[in-house]
Order: sequence, then C-alpha cells, then structure tokens
Amino acid sequence: MRPETIAIHLPGIRREGALSPPIHLSTTYEFGGTDEGISEFDYIRDDNPNVADLETRLAALDCGEGAVTFASGMAAGTALLQTLPARAKVIFHRDLYSGFQKLVKNLFPQWNLVSEFADLRDSGALEKAITPEVELIWFETPSNPGLELVDIETIVRVAATVNARVVVDGTFATSALQQPLNWGADVVLHSATKYFGGHSDVQGGALIVRQDEELVESLRKVRSITGGVLSPFNAYMVSRGLMSLHCRIAKHCENALAIAHLLSQHPKISRVHYPFLPSNPDIALAKKQMSAGGGMVSMEVAGGREAALTVASRVKLFVNATSLGGVESLIQHRFSPERVGTIVPESMLRLSVGLEHIEDLKEDLLQALG
Ligand code: PLP
Repeated sequence: MRPETIAIHLPGIRREGALSPPIHLSTTYEFGGTDEGISEFDYIRDDNPNVADLETRLAALDCGEGAVTFASGMAAGTALLQTLPARAKVIFHRDLYSGFQKLVKNLFPQWNLVSEFADLRDSGALEKAITPEVELIWFETPSNPGLELVDIETIVRVAATVNARVVVDGTFATSALQQPLNWGADVVLHSATKYFGGHSDVQGGALIVRQDEELVESLRKVRSITGGVLSPFNAYMVSRGLMSLHCRIAKHCENALAIAHLLSQHPKISRVHYPFLPSNPDIALAKKQMSAGGGMVSMEVAGGREAALTVASRVKLFVNATSLGGVESLIQHRFSPERVGTIVPESMLRLSVGLEHIEDLKEDLLQALG
C-alpha cells in the first residue's frame, strides 16, 4: 500500500464493522479468570484501542518498526530524554523549537543531562561537539522557525562513530514529505498538534522508532509510569486528520511556495526562508530529503522589529497567533515569545500557510506590507 492508502485504511480493523472507528472511553477492561484473556487491553494509561490503531498507522507512514504516542509533542520528546542514562550528553541543532530549549534550560541540570548546541550544518562544529558521552543527536529539519535544513544522512554517519542515536523532529515536513528513518535516523518525533491533526483542534505527539524493540518498550514504560498518554478522543482526532494529510499537505506546499516567491520579490522583505525557493543555498539538500517544501515560510522584514510587528498587526486574513499546520493561515513574530538568548532575528515573521485561496493570501500580505 502507498502512503495515501495507508493513511486511510490501516490498521484495517473495523470494530463492530464501523467505518468511522468508535471512541473507546473505558478506562478499564475486564480481566476475567486466569488465562481467559477477555481483552488485549487492561488499563487506559497502558493502552487503548484508539491509541493502538493510531500507532499502527503512524509506524507504517514513517516506515518504522513501532510508534508510541503521547499527550503532546513535548511529552513525546520528554519521554525520549527520560530513557537516557544520567550524565548522557545530547547535541541539539542550534535552531530548536523554543519549548525544547526551555526544557533543556530548566530540566537538564536536575536530570543530570548535558546539552550542547551546535550548527549541525557545519561539519567542523559537529565534529567538535561529538564526544564519547554523546547518546543522542537531536534536530529539526526543516527547523522552527528558521527553516534550516540539516543533512540527515550525514548526521547518521557521524553519530555512528560514537554509537549515538539520531532523532529527527519532522513536525514541519511530516511523514508525507520526508522519511528520516529511511535515511538511517533512529527515531522521528512529530507534534501531532500540527499537520497530523491539521485543524488546530487536537493536541498530541508521537515517536516512531526505526528498528529497536527495546527502545519502543522503554518508551512505553516511561509513558506508562509518567502518564503522558494520548486520550482516546485525541487519538481518534489525530487518526481522522491523518486520513487527509497527503491531500492537505500538497495544497499547503503549493500555497507556501507561491507565497515564498511573492515575498522574495518584495522590496520590503530582506530575506525569505523556504526549503524549495531557488535562492535557498540548501535547495539541493531540500530536494534530496524532501518531496516538497512544506507549508511553513519565514520572512525577514526590512526595517527590523518595528516593521515586522506592524506587518503582523495589519494582516486581515492571516491570524496573528502561535502554532501551525491548521487549515487557516497564521503569522507570528517568533522573537517575542522566545526573547532571551534566542537566535531568532527580531525582524522575522513566521507564516503557517493554510488552505485558503492563494490570491486572497497574496492580497492580504501585500496590503499588510503596504
Ligand atoms: N516540535 C516542533 C518543531 C514544534 O513546533 C512544536 C510545537 O510547536 C513541538 C515540537 C511541540 O509540540 P506540542 O505543542 O504538541 O507539545
């Protein structure tokens, strides 16, 4: 089966014959007598039919051996870190979602974990950061919000020299556009709150593991102990979103590329960040590991912070709000929530390009740029 078909048909279980899967709200399942095995489930924190069905679908879409879902993308990433031994070192790419930066700053010291941030596009910087204590190399590609591209195959090769695992946060690209596990990454992380759900109305997260049953078991154990599970309703909503993922992503990509082209020719924009824009110095890498550029565009407004804030306040159709991956277009000044220590330029606005008519989106940005 091809991905579009997998997204709709897996796992192929029609409980009670229902085409739309029932939502199993029961928190507990009957044990019965010894060996009766009435149900494969026992308690909601350990497993649930909606969660199990979603995990089968996610593992297949990312070509992994197993998937483990969580209450959010943050809970997914946290669970992975909680499988590490004390004093383990994690190398992060310098442009990293602010939530994980906060986690590193606030919780790494008390968890006795060591972090190092490096520009993973620079082979010298990576070689300097690689030491025998490294257990994990973690990056987003494309990254949030700079849309920087990291070469998955290269990082996998370097990680192997110290037996470190590689985790790719594929939230921006989704499994529809990029398959990190096929390039040798060990784990792919997704915030299902974004494109997987696709309608800004559900939160979730997932880790898909390439080939490591022990890691899948450790992640399930951490999830069961700490309780960051996805609810049955949210599992249903993410599964529902996945059914139209490929269709939606194609339109997100088409609209975003058109917006990136428009902005790159605008005199009030000093720089546009988009993987498939011809002026992107990393376009060859983008085309190597992605099948299209995705729905996210970042732009730097000539005139700096004030000019950027003015544009964000003038849009009428784009909504000035955080998050991404929904049907509606969003715009956000990412420096504002990140502030101290961020590498995000003050002139940058991040766009999550939605599924509206492209001419309406173009008109809105043009009027806002003035
Ligand atoms: N990874 C990336 C790249 C994100 O942008 C986000 C949230 O914006 C997350 C992870 C965290 O996901 P969640 O908000 O579902 O916890």
